[in-house]
Amino acid sequence: METATVEKTETKKMPDTKGYFGEYGGAYLPPELVAEMEKITASYHQIKDTDEFKAELTRLNRDYTGRPSPVYHAKSLTAKVGGAQIYFKREDLNHTGAHKINHCLGEVLLAKQMGKKKVIAETGAGQHGVALATAAALLDMECEIHMGEVDIEKEYPNVIRMKILGAKVVPVTFGLKTLKEAVDSAFMAYMQDFETQFYAIGSVVGPHPFPMMVRDFQQIVGAEAKEQFLDKTGKLPDHLVACVGGGSNAIGLFTAFLDDEKVQIHGVEPSGKDFKVGNHAATLTLGKPGVIHGFKCYLLQDEKGEPAPVHSIASGLDYPGVGPQHSYLKDIKRVQYETISDVEAIEAFSIMSKTEGIIPALETSHAIAYAIKLASKLDPKETILVNLSGRGDKDIDFIAENYGDVIGID
Ligand SMILES: *Cc1c(COP(=O)(O)O)cnc(C)c1O
Repeated sequence: METATVEKTETKKMPDTKGYFGEYGGAYLPPELVAEMEKITASYHQIKDTDEFKAELTRLNRDYTGRPSPVYHAKSLTAKVGGAQIYFKREDLNHTGAHKINHCLGEVLLAKQMGKKKVIAETGAGQHGVALATAAALLDMECEIHMGEVDIEKEYPNVIRMKILGAKVVPVTFGLKTLKEAVDSAFMAYMQDFETQFYAIGSVVGPHPFPMMVRDFQQIVGAEAKEQFLDKTGKLPDHLVACVGGGSNAIGLFTAFLDDEKVQIHGVEPSGKDFKVGNHAATLTLGKPGVIHGFKCYLLQDEKGEPAPVHSIASGLDYPGVGPQHSYLKDIKRVQYETISDVEAIEAFSIMSKTEGIIPALETSHAIAYAIKLASKLDPKETILVNLSGRGDKDIDFIAENYGDVIGID
């Protein structure tokens, strides 16, 4: 149990003061940004534990987002699969329909207290964009969201939502026109003026302090779930499952359980169409350590070490990098990272909708697909807790157009 011991003493104080989780993380930045990131780190440490900040975030989490989100025993799905008991942490029931509102409220509150005028960010599926536009509307900040043209077309309802909420949506027209390019574009816009703007990163990625900050704002998910699960069953779950794009919903659920050695933890990445370069986004499974967007992590790379093209049916998982803490948790073997393909995710999307009456996000459908596979191999006495990171309203037009025949609605 050597790795578990290392992890137990180490994770509590991670990242170190320079933002490293083992060898991953840090801040690989243009010189002009170094001081600004240090300022954000210092402000975060100064503000986060003040009574005023904590009280306001707690109030918004409860009365605005609707926290705590329930833990739900999915008896119909469990019966259909015929194995371990499947439970869901219902982040899909949050205001705006996903877990991202948890870190957006935190980030925008921080930006406001730092005296910033505008928040700026990338979005993949549009979930981070909508959550950020929501928090910005609420807290009276300007908001600018960069989104790839491919994703704009796929997730159009979210584009409209952002605009209704008062945000400016900037289409990204270069490269693959998806999440990585949206980050590149948002970062360029941010660099024009980082005095009055705040880059509110949408996952546990980017330079220090973002992987730490976003994790801290998301860990409420696991903290609540642990208590709720104990209340319901008298035990901890045997398994945790969450999908991993950048890794924020996963680390949000996992953090409270990292020291509970008996809890087996699974992160699920998209294997897309197949394992050829450009057809998947299975970063932890097939990547090698490298630097992207200001931090070190497992990275899908081409021969030149540049970020490789990626694909997933789920726009929110379509990223060649991954959170530095996940990279570390893979190396110390505390979390097992698995893959689910586009087709398997679509199948799970359909099964979940038809047996539970819950239409899950395509991102989340990867976690559900893996949970179904896992449950079928386990005893009914065992339990699996899945992070239901978001609802699938945003995906229904895309599904109807492209997979209507597959799920039998044509
Ligand atoms: C954005 C998103 C994800 C992927 O992002 P993580 O940072 O890996 O959590 C997963 N599920 C939903 C519903 C999302 O909107």
